[in-house]
Amino acid sequence: MAKIYFLDVTNRDGVQTANLGLSKLEKTMINMYLNEMGVFQSEFGFPTTRHESLYLQANLELADMGILQPIRLEGWIRAVVADVEKAFKLVPNIKHLNVSISTSDQMLQGKFQGKKSREDIVSMMVDALEAARAHGAASVGVNAEDASRTEIDFLVRFGLAAKEHGADRLRYCDTLGYDNAFTIYESAKALAENVGIPIELHCHSDLGMAVANSLAGAKGAIDGGQDAYINTTVNGIGERAGNADLVATVLAVTKSKGFAKKYQSEPPIDLTKAWKLSRFASYAFRVPIPINQPGVGANAFAHSSGIHADGVLKDPENYELYSFDEVGRGETELVETGREICSGEYSGISGFSHIMGQMEVSFDDARQAEEILELVRYANVEAQKPLVEDELLFIAKYPKIVKKLLTLVPPE
Ligand SMILES: [Zn+2]
Repeated sequence: MAKIYFLDVTNRDGVQTANLGLSKLEKTMINMYLNEMGVFQSEFGFPTTRHESLYLQANLELADMGILQPIRLEGWIRAVVADVEKAFKLVPNIKHLNVSISTSDQMLQGKFQGKKSREDIVSMMVDALEAARAHGAASVGVNAEDASRTEIDFLVRFGLAAKEHGADRLRYCDTLGYDNAFTIYESAKALAENVGIPIELHCHSDLGMAVANSLAGAKGAIDGGQDAYINTTVNGIGERAGNADLVATVLAVTKSKGFAKKYQSEPPIDLTKAWKLSRFASYAFRVPIPINQPGVGANAFAHSSGIHADGVLKDPENYELYSFDEVGRGETELVETGREICSGEYSGISGFSHIMGQMEVSFDDARQAEEILELVRYANVEAQKPLVEDELLFIAKYPKIVKKLLTLVPPE
């Protein structure tokens, strides 16, 4: 069975989105949830960005401890040798990288102002790729930014140079959301056939087609004889109109006509984690989930009109393509309508003990409780909103890691 891998880029494309951001603890929680869900790889940040160094290192430590396993943690950098050097200097234990460079004539003229030729682009990419390999990177993906506006012959040449110098995958970036399902199918198929390495599909929603394009691109790559890697973000959060939504794309791969049972995600995705992950990301980004969001929106399983309500009560399959419990919904939730004690950057031991006690977490002694509380205060300084249960449990369980995550020291 043909394989489709999911590579989530929330912690890179999602957090670089205007007006939005995540704390280092929130980014870590997203990686934890993605891992639980069975996502193959998380593009977990920018190894050349100094304020991310300790976050990235702490997450790699979690991987070494067997906690962030089996998910792969991969960093995004520009395809520039100096950036490769800097990445390995700031995050020496980084193992997986994607190196990115623009390939379209628009970018050669508009961004590089005509100072770089196509040959320059290929050689910059090759140099960066070789530098990453020389530093011992276990896997390197090569990203063609603005691939959808790049001539296919040049993309093939770019891809072949990447393959020849040991790239593991070629990322086809529909950076502006310019493709449609028909064009991306053809491009991905041509690249798979002529380059002969697995193809990543990175789609944006400027024309509202990111999920459909991801599917069509994946089919193109597979029909061209290669595995497909679909880039997603949680709740579709990403630059401008966003990326392919993780849950919607998994649903499309596993439920849509002609795809269901024909393609297999590797590893298998546990969709029952979808509800928790989407809600956490919505809270962390402070972006509500649209009422009509596939799978996780408030209306995704709501029926009021006579014919639909009657039909779904007789047999849910009459008007539902999949069941709410498949996406982790259906549990009754308790909502506190009275007194609320929550965490904050000025929390004290009494309120904190109350919150932890409700979650049945106890401490060895007063000193340990004080130590965890201090970390919770610092986490609140970054988050500027009460922490959720899973974050509090994570802090209590991995205080050393959290201390690292929360350490932010600007360079001299
Ligand atoms: Zn993007």
